[in-house]
Amino acid sequence: MKLFSLASGSSGNCYLVQSSAGHNILIDCGLSAKKVQQYLAGFGVQIHQLSAIFLTHDHSDHVSGVGTISQRWGVVVYANSKTLEAARLRWEKLHRVAVEQTDRSGAADSGTVRPPAISKYNLQVLPTGAVIWFGSLQVSSFPVSHDAADTVCYTLRENECQATILTDLGCATNVIFEPLCRSDLIILEANHSLERLQKSRYPYYLKARITSDHGHLSNLQSGKILQEIIERSSPAHLVWLAHLSQESNQPEIAKHEISHQLEMAGIHKFPLHVAQRDKPSLQWNGEPAVYQIPMF
Ligand SMILES: [Zn+2]
Ligand SMILES: [Zn+2]
Repeated sequence: MKLFSLASGSSGNCYLVQSSAGHNILIDCGLSAKKVQQYLAGFGVQIHQLSAIFLTHDHSDHVSGVGTISQRWGVVVYANSKTLEAARLRWEKLHRVAVEQTDRSGAADSGTVRPPAISKYNLQVLPTGAVIWFGSLQVSSFPVSHDAADTVCYTLRENECQATILTDLGCATNVIFEPLCRSDLIILEANHSLERLQKSRYPYYLKARITSDHGHLSNLQSGKILQEIIERSSPAHLVWLAHLSQESNQPEIAKHEISHQLEMAGIHKFPLHVAQRDKPSLQWNGEPAVYQIPMF
């Protein structure tokens, strides 16, 4: 199994997973179809070759390109029933807006092409907790606390290697630890620095939403989750920090605040990597993670 971060943040989230038998799946796609087509081409993948797209939840930074991809290329979309229904409504609204815009600009430019009428999305219900196989690649979900219709996170497993993508949640619940402790790769939300968020220009209601149990994880919360994983299992996890806020976080701040939390727990010099917001960045080739106890 290989896993690539194509984009991570409030302007779009998308991960590409490749099985050893050549299945290509996306976890979320909050990018335009055009952009994801361009990114996939960089990995030698044509968009029609996607075996599936899995949705964690229906917020636009996770689903905005999925309706077009499913409609145009017939790619199957898996999610639980509440997420599929909420995402479908969002895609239909996006389509209406696009039609209205082209109709308006079409009055001045007769060459404008109207978006095609919605035909059908290829949607498949995957109940939360169910497991689905693509050859030897296993995909399963578990629920998390976030303010969308019915948010989940995904675990991917093949040949004793496991990755878990844990973004978009407001607090740690017991159910997250078992899959995380067993994962070689952990993609962990580090959305904001609490101090930066409080000083930010965001209105009060937005700050309250982000810091609620149904919002997003702060660096401190992520550090505590990571500490608990390491204490329960081992430090042998590769960790990518993800879904950083542009307004109230920075890669160096996230790494510093999380490392500080770990240092206080006696976990020294734990390596942390940060997925970039708006372009493909990190890549994992399915190797088990190694942590070397620092000598100094
Ligand atoms: Zn998000
Ligand atoms: Zn969200």
